[in-house]
Amino acid sequence: MDVWCAIRTYPKHATELGNPIPTEPVFFLKPSSSVVDFGTIDSCGGDVHHEIELVLKLGDNMEPTHMALGLDLTKRSIQDHLKEKSLPWAKAKAFNGSAVLGDWVEYNAMAEYSLEVNGNEVQRGSLAEMSWNPTQLIAKLADWAPISPGDILFTGTPSGVGPLAENDELTASLYIEGQHILSHHAKCV
Ligand code: ZN
Repeated sequence: MDVWCAIRTYPKHATELGNPIPTEPVFFLKPSSSVVDFGTIDSCGGDVHHEIELVLKLGDNMEPTHMALGLDLTKRSIQDHLKEKSLPWAKAKAFNGSAVLGDWVEYNAMAEYSLEVNGNEVQRGSLAEMSWNPTQLIAKLADWAPISPGDILFTGTPSGVGPLAENDELTASLYIEGQHILSHHAKCV
């Protein structure tokens, strides 16, 4: 299983980090060994940022068959430094435990999701707000990438990213047409 990740798919988030809105989607990879469950996040502190994302699982025809909530944890100051030097992002995005992944449910194009930190909603997104819908995003990736059935794709984060501190409590929730489907909890240690 490969872990593909799209960036700047939500125009408002691209703008909040001072990045241009890309005309073509941009992707990077995380190692599959960086995937961990919700529950305990042991990489908080420093300047690890939360990025709540909807994660898609690809089926036999590269269509999304399942979806899950995920956190694309990002060491923001390391990323800023690497970006400045035009270096690869691996140290900022592919560290131990950097891909937090929830339970799979059947894919639904009407998915919406939110992240609360210490009871305050900080991020909310829906597939409908993305610059490319999931089918378009996967097609763009398939143009050049060796994607396979069973691979997963982090679809990018909506605006509202921010740092996580020790003892922060996170609640990620998934909705379909306003109906609550599931929530996952995590605590920063
Ligand atoms: Zn991300």
